[in-house]
Amino acid sequence: MSTIVFVREQVENERRCSLLPINVKAYTKLGATILIESGIGETVNIQDSDYAEAGATVEADREALLAKADFVMSIHPLTKADLEKTKTSVCCISFLDPFNAHDHIKWLQKTGRSALSVEMIPRSSRCQKMDALSSQASLAGYVMVAKAMSTLPRVFPMMMTPAGTLKPAKVFVIGAGVAGLQAIATAKRLGASVTAYDTREVVAEQVRSLGAKFLAIDIGETGQTEQGYAKALTPEQIEIQQQAQAACIADSDVVITTAQLFGRKPPLLIKKDVIAKMKPGSVIVDMAAENGGNVEGSVAGSIANVEGVNVIGTGNWASEVALDASQMYANNLQALLLEFWDSENKTIQLNLEDDILQTALITHAGELINPTIKALLTEEKA
Ligand code: NAD
Repeated sequence: MSTIVFVREQVENERRCSLLPINVKAYTKLGATILIESGIGETVNIQDSDYAEAGATVEADREALLAKADFVMSIHPLTKADLEKTKTSVCCISFLDPFNAHDHIKWLQKTGRSALSVEMIPRSSRCQKMDALSSQASLAGYVMVAKAMSTLPRVFPMMMTPAGTLKPAKVFVIGAGVAGLQAIATAKRLGASVTAYDTREVVAEQVRSLGAKFLAIDIGETGQTEQGYAKALTPEQIEIQQQAQAACIADSDVVITTAQLFGRKPPLLIKKDVIAKMKPGSVIVDMAAENGGNVEGSVAGSIANVEGVNVIGTGNWASEVALDASQMYANNLQALLLEFWDSENKTIQLNLEDDILQTALITHAGELINPTIKALLTEEKA
């Protein structure tokens, strides 16, 4: 029987948590031993007593808790200082940022600790219920619209009143993946006039089915990866895109950029000269601000005034709706655990033959498992 530990998040301004009492009930029903760090649900107003009632053991001493863990579940990865308190046989399950956290991964491998990166869980039908990237991105799409709405000095819907008619706000969404589609749907529900663009032509129909317009830009061959991710554009294609979308940006009250390239830096899509053409007081929300940004001048963690336009780069969007985000994330983890639960031995069975684990496990028992990350780190060493 193994001990599954859920810790309190340590990252500043993080309000989400990885477990709700309802998940504890499900876990204990399976016969799992669940230990939680005291205060884990404080930011979403859930008391230790609620978790204890559901069947968890509450521990105030983080060090003692970590020392007992066979599995540690969290949103953000444990720091090295935390990991040093765990057994070397531990398996940590969290977001891991594996394309950037090279030194951390090398250390995990060297010390024999296992790490499962939730962002590397495949985007397949079987994995939909475990897909934390999607659950959190979808909420991010909603939050970005809410942020834009509260910053824009205009209303979103058309209003015909005795005091005059207000035109609907114009919203332009760049990138219509999970976050972008939710942003489009939310802005539409609020009555805005919405246009969207994505390099993957296949999403045009999805955009239209939400009642938004799709901006047609001919940039030539684009395509997508096997997993459905966008391929990087050539500098010439980026140039065509920037020019073709400039008029739409200038005419918009709100621009929301969600364009990402899995495992790479997001493309820079809006430059200052185009921002300068927007009406003063307009709003841009740059979803990617924390990773380099789609928008020139956006500042990670804050709102920047660029050429009179409010460019919102606050980031960690899902944390703004922490209770729902925690519920979705905790359910993603629960689905993952259920998929690999060994009811006889009351533990998670890390079956390395399984294609989910072949991709999502980054390190295990001193080996690098995910082939892409393995190739990246091996190349770095050579
Ligand atoms: P993402 O976060 O990697 O990127 C967001 C969007 O940005 C994508 O739609 C991408 O095409 C777009 N983009 C990239 N460069 C751009 C540019 N220069 N201009 C405009 N847009 C640009 O993607 P995501 O939201 O994680 O989704 C990726 C894909 O995975 C989608 O096809 C989605 O439907 C698919 N998906 C599948 C499953 C599943 O089957 N389980 C689950 C979730 C997502």
